[in-house]
This record gives sequence, C-alpha cells and structure tokens, in this order.
Amino acid sequence: PNDFKGKRVLVLGLAKSGYAAAELLQSLGAIVVVNDASPEEGNDDVLVLRSKGVEVICGGHPQNLLDKEFDLIVKNPGIPYQNQVLQQALQQQIPIWTEIELAYLVSEAPIIAITGSNGKTTTTTLLYHMLNIGGKKPIIAGNIGTVACSVAENATSDEVIVMEVSSFQLAGVEKFRPKIAVWTNLYDSHIDYHGTAEEYAKAKANIIKNQEPDDFFIYNADQTDMQKYIEQGRGKKIPFSLQGKTIDGISADDEMIYWLGEPFVKRSIIKLLGQHNLENILAATASAILMNCDKDTIENVLSSFTGVRHRMQFVKEFNDRTFFNDSKATNTLATKSALSSFESPVILIAGGLDRGHSFEELRPYMTQVKAVFGLGETADRFIEFARSCGVQITQKALTMDDAVKAAYESSEEGDQILLSPACASWDQYKSFENRGDAFIEAIMNL
Ligand code: ADP
Repeated sequence: PNDFKGKRVLVLGLAKSGYAAAELLQSLGAIVVVNDASPEEGNDDVLVLRSKGVEVICGGHPQNLLDKEFDLIVKNPGIPYQNQVLQQALQQQIPIWTEIELAYLVSEAPIIAITGSNGKTTTTTLLYHMLNIGGKKPIIAGNIGTVACSVAENATSDEVIVMEVSSFQLAGVEKFRPKIAVWTNLYDSHIDYHGTAEEYAKAKANIIKNQEPDDFFIYNADQTDMQKYIEQGRGKKIPFSLQGKTIDGISADDEMIYWLGEPFVKRSIIKLLGQHNLENILAATASAILMNCDKDTIENVLSSFTGVRHRMQFVKEFNDRTFFNDSKATNTLATKSALSSFESPVILIAGGLDRGHSFEELRPYMTQVKAVFGLGETADRFIEFARSCGVQITQKALTMDDAVKAAYESSEEGDQILLSPACASWDQYKSFENRGDAFIEAIMNL
C-alpha cells in the first residue's frame, strides 16, 4: 500500500465505490482527482472529498483530463471501456483498475471472491452465515454490501472478507488474488457491456488469474462451457456437481451431499428450495469446509437458511398456503428456476416491464401452475401465454394488493403462492426490492 504515496490517481465515477476508492487512496498518500460525468448539485460526497483535499471535477469529462499524467485510473465498474477517457487511457497505457484491486492490495484479511452469472448473492450470504456461526469473523463486501475497498483497510488477518464480485469488477484485474475463488455458473448476460460472450467469460475467469497452488478454486463442473477458462488456473481445483457422487470435489445426488466422495450431509435437512440453489449450497459448503468450518455449523445453517430476501424467499405460511417472494426474477431464466423448485401446485403472480421478450421458455414448467395473476405492462401478454399453456384461472391485477388477494382467494390448502415476475420492475416500482416488499406487505394485510 505504501506504493501509493505521491502517485497520481484518477478515480472515474463517483458512486459509492468511487467515493470509497478516493477516500482510501487519499489516506494512503496518493494525489487523487475524481471525475464524474453527472453534475455535482446536491452531492454531499463532493463536499466531503474536497474538504479532505481531493480534487473533484463533475459535469463531464474535460478534454485535457489526462494531461495531469496519471499513474493509475480506478474506474467505477459500471463505466464501459468505450468511454472516451478510458479509450485515451488505454492508448497511453495507463493501468485501469476497479476498487477490488485496491481492496486486495490493502487487506490483511484473506479474500473469498464469488462470481457467476447467477447465484452470487445467495452463495455469498450462505457462506457468510456459515463462517459467522463458525467463528471465522467474516466481513461481507462487494455488490452485496459495503464497498470492498472501504472494509479492506481495517480488516485484520484473523478475519476473512467474503466478496461478491461482478464481471465488470473483474474485467480490469491485475494482481487481485483471492484465497478462495468461486465461479457459480456462466450464462450469456451483460454482453452489451463486454462486447462478446467470450469477453464476458474472460472477465469472469480473471477471478483465478493470479491464484497460486495454495489457493482454491471452486467451480461448476456441470457446465462444459466453463471448462476452457478453468484450465488456466493454478489454484487447487474443487469442482461441484449435481450429477451424483464424485470423488474430487463436492457433489450431490437426491439423498446426500458428498465431500471428496464421502457422505457429508443429508439433503433432507436443507430448507432452501430449488435445484439452482443446491448449486449455491455446494459452492458455499465447499468454501466453508476449506475455511475449517465444522460439519455442525454447516448443518446448522443449511437447516435454518430460508433464502435471501427477494430470491425464492420463504415469506410466510398462512392457512396452509405458503408464500414465496422471488421478485429478483427479472427474466424468464430466473422464473424457470423458481417454478422448477416446486412439486405441489403453484399460483403464480408474474409480469412487469415489457422488453418485448417471449415467455415461451417457461412453457414446460407451466404444467403445475394452476392460476396466474398478471401484473404491470406485460400482464395481458403473460395471461395470454398462460392460457395457451392450459392454465384455467387467469386474471389481470392492477396492484400488488389486488394480485395477492385474488391469488389467495383462488387458492386451496397446500398451494404455494409465488411472486416470480419474469420481468423487471421499473414499470410500477423503483426496484425489484420495492416490488418484493410490496408483495410481503400485501401478504401481511391478508
Ligand atoms: P446474483 O447475485 O448472481 O444476481 P442471486 O443469488 O441474487 O444471484 O439470485 C438471483 C436469481 O438467479 C434467483 O432468484 C434465481 O432465480 C437465480 N439463480 C440463483 N442461483 C442460481 C444458480 N446457481 N443457477 C441458476 N440460476 C440461479
């Protein structure tokens, strides 16, 4: 970290992560300039940073910004590399990092980094609980909580940072080296940002770029697409698989989770629903075992954890109906995972922002859906789709309250009432969290 003394650093983008990076770099003795394209009005962070001696330029990228001869740029993960300042910086060969690189360099605590197209938050949260109950002093950071570089500075070597990292953050990795890297899966997403599926996968694969043989890499062995990226890693490989007992990692069949081919815990104790969540469970469990968590601790968490808020979250049982909040399901893939989690009849509340995408992918999973309540811009389209799948009871609802009431009225004992919209929330809500909260509130009002 002393390396930063007197270094000229440009922090590009003043969101939470830019603020934290600027503050940290300043405290390490760097000469920091922050630049953000949006105007500064009403931004208290600007005032605070200026009072600490950081130069802050808002409202655009000045033409001559790079004349200041920066040694390094720390960019907000959301800013694409096509940005004009970054393009110029690439030409001038100025290193471009994201704040996770800083976090790694200043942290005395080992880092467990979790990436993947889906399942990051669930895996990170599960692992956090295991480590916490196991007395391993975890600190949760990254997309999910506090900006990594702001917790890293004070983290001590007897703690461990559990960090959810996105492909945006991994794209510019130089030295970042997690003690344990987890890669849950690889699906085509965020290709608009990275350009191609190949670039996206390569960015994710940076999670193992700097690992050494005493580090660990936990990955999805059931996904063949991932394999060619995995071969480059020098860390010890721990595959996870749902294809039954394997001896070289962690695996599961219908009855049991196996560690290195030996029975480890019974599936029947697990509370979290869904095959996809079983993958997350395997990844978190393997990480916890490698961190020396004992079996009791892991069992304790697996038998009590009912899901992260808004992600197949068990909300409540009421008059023998069970309510699940999967508001985070903003696409058909996620709703497909949700529907395939249930064995008994489901009453589905779905619909939201209309991006024009088809729901066809859900067709094979609609057989156990006995009623659909449509919400938002895609309400009519979703209902039409549900009818074409043979769903008898369908109804459009104007509000979440109406949808929940109608869903409840149509239900019988033993039914599951599920919010899994298959659409983004912005037509009616500020965020998927907002939408999920509205669902929970409507249930409480029943
Ligand atoms: P992320 O943080 O990567 O967005 P989350 O844990 O928040 O992932 O889960 C988001 C949604 O993705 C869930 O609601 C679920 O539908 C789906 N999902 C979660 N884990 C997996 C997985 N391992 N494989 C496929 N889909 C998953």
